[in-house]
Amino acid sequence: VSPVHRPLSGPRLQELTTLGLGGPCRELRTVTGPQDLRDLGTEPLLVLGGGSNLVVADEGVDLPVLRIAVPGLEVGPDGLVTVGAGEDWDGVVDRMVALGWCGLAPLSGIPGSAGATPVQNVGAYGTEIGRLLVGVTVFDRPSGTVRELGPEDLGLGYRTSTLRGRSDRIVLSVTLRLTREPWPVAYRELAGALGVEIGAVAGEADVRAAVLALRRGKGMVLDPGDPDSRSAGSFFTNPVLDAADADAADAAIRRRLGDVDYPRYPAGGDAVKLSAAWLIERAGFAKGRPGPGGRVGISTKHTLALVNRGGSTADLLALAREIRDGVRSAFDVTLQPEPVLVGVEFD
Ligand SMILES: Cc1cc2nc3c(=O)[nH]c(=O)nc-3n(C[C@H](O)[C@H](O)[C@H](O)COP(=O)(O)OP(=O)(O)OC[C@H]3O[C@@H](n4cnc5c(N)ncnc54)[C@H](O)[C@@H]3O)c2cc1C
Repeated sequence: VSPVHRPLSGPRLQELTTLGLGGPCRELRTVTGPQDLRDLGTEPLLVLGGGSNLVVADEGVDLPVLRIAVPGLEVGPDGLVTVGAGEDWDGVVDRMVALGWCGLAPLSGIPGSAGATPVQNVGAYGTEIGRLLVGVTVFDRPSGTVRELGPEDLGLGYRTSTLRGRSDRIVLSVTLRLTREPWPVAYRELAGALGVEIGAVAGEADVRAAVLALRRGKGMVLDPGDPDSRSAGSFFTNPVLDAADADAADAAIRRRLGDVDYPRYPAGGDAVKLSAAWLIERAGFAKGRPGPGGRVGISTKHTLALVNRGGSTADLLALAREIRDGVRSAFDVTLQPEPVLVGVEFD
């Protein structure tokens, strides 16, 4: 994104993002279907869903912003569900649970649009959207055509896909395969809340209620009454390290904290996933800690969420850098931001 050199007359992104941060854009257009995309050419632009995973420059962005509002929800008898990209994600989960379809309940309460869910392969409580995804319909801007893409085309990984960080493929709809049978509970904290063993099954509506309650306790559902939910969700991803980096981190952890047990999960091959929240807390950053200037802070409920308390994107990034640098010097691990950064660098 190029720096802003001229006055921007579009709305301020702070009105359109859950962080409530970000300056103006060039213009805002609403997209309800492929007909609204055909005359776009290939000019750079910002694709916007619910604005729940975006950190936008205070100066704004000299780009047109396309707000994706494609409607629709079709449910086949076989559990094949096609959802318009502009549908509110949690509304979709709610309707599917009410209709007795299973698979989505662990993903309850994730803010934003259905169309953004494959972009970072959203995940929570032991499930990722990739496990349910049959395919997406995209508008392919270079060719000006509507195309179907399957999971094999999307490079879905931990909080990533090939759709992330580009604006040449715009998701119009998402197709998921749901089941009538509930899925095994795959997350310890959720199993505890449901009073079942991990791997046991629980009713889909009970899973949804438990997930929403757990998320509320962490400020991870959008709630105008909860200042801790004024975030972009988790600011950092859990670091996935190769064997050499994991050994270096292990040595640093033991140097600093002695012979401790710490969260460490296999992540394919010899890779290891560590807990960003654990590293941040042990590096000395507690929940509720204010950032420079005191107008942003770490959520009082969740170490990974950085919250806007009336500050700026610059304040938020200053806090994020403090945390990243603190964790790096304590444990030799460099945390990466999870949200999409627009018009700002995290260097
Ligand atoms: C309180 C809170 C809790 C959260 N919890 C979770 C969680 O548990 N798990 C999780 O994975 N995420 C979580 N998030 C992050 C966020 O909700 C998800 O990433 C969500 O899918 C973003 O949807 P959105 O519509 O708001 O996308 P936006 O923030 O509007 O956009 C995000 C990115 O997707 C692109 N994009 C959006 N729509 C489209 C489209 N139709 N086609 C192509 N590209 C598109 C945008 O260009 C941008 O790059 C949380 C966020 C908040 C604020």
